[in-house]
Amino acid sequence: MIRQPAIKSDNYDSVIHAATPGQPATMTIRLKLRLIARDPAAQPPPGSARRTPVWVEFLAPTPAAAAARTGIVFDANGKPFRCRGWEQAEFNAFKIRFKRVVETAWNNQLILLPPEPGPESGGLSDAAWRDFISSPGVPAHVRCGLEIELLDGSLAATPHSRMEVARLAAPANQQFRSRSLRISNEDLDVKIRERDGATYRQFTAAHEVGHRLRSPAEDFLEHVEAEEAEADGATDKHAPYGRVAGKRMAMMGIGSLVTRYDAIPWLRRIVTHTGSLFEWDYAHRVQLERRQLPVSPRQNALVNGTVSGHP
Ligand SMILES: [Zn+2]
Repeated sequence: MIRQPAIKSDNYDSVIHAATPGQPATMTIRLKLRLIARDPAAQPPPGSARRTPVWVEFLAPTPAAAAARTGIVFDANGKPFRCRGWEQAEFNAFKIRFKRVVETAWNNQLILLPPEPGPESGGLSDAAWRDFISSPGVPAHVRCGLEIELLDGSLAATPHSRMEVARLAAPANQQFRSRSLRISNEDLDVKIRERDGATYRQFTAAHEVGHRLRSPAEDFLEHVEAEEAEADGATDKHAPYGRVAGKRMAMMGIGSLVTRYDAIPWLRRIVTHTGSLFEWDYAHRVQLERRQLPVSPRQNALVNGTVSGHP
């Protein structure tokens, strides 16, 4: 009874599967991504900003050829970093690790809960609602995840997004400031930041992929408090990343937690999958496991067959 089980779109694809007894429903966002082994010898056209993507790939057949190809790549702040070429095997290993690191960071966290109202007010029918019940005693929910499909340069398929990957010639201790169109080989390692006495850990690659989970109307998904910081006229450059600990810990802040803000790509899309006019509710897997989420009155009614108000 899921209205649209699979959606293909310019920004990202997604699929949803109904629950079966004992197995919760799932929704997966699939991002087709093209990682470009940035040629350090190529530069943005004269007159363009240093951060302008070049999209020129260079893959060396041997480590010696990779080392011989050098140049300057600018980070998001316009700071120059000496880089070298990628060796083919080295880049293949990077891509495999990239997919694993990014998917692990995003997955196994987000749960969405179906809205309570029935179809008479624009919500789900009973049949549609049942698709999200895996067990009478477990609140109806959808486990959400992210899948990265890395497109090889030889494929004709069009990616949803592209990212340049700079290969730093020498370790930079994660000082290369990445953006979602240009990352570095150091972005698969955990980045640790201190703010106001608290410690935050984040895999930069996962954060940058988050920026790519944009709506069709925007260029990228913004930082967790970008809107609030702008409304406030905040001058602190860290403000968009969260002004308080509860926001900073977000994936689109400087942390690794998939918060309600980070759930926006799934929240937007599930409405189209299911045809509900109501927003779904956000929850974290930990809340479900700790039994902090109640079984709703609608679920109890459906399971017990006491009410059938919603055809
Ligand atoms: Zn960012």
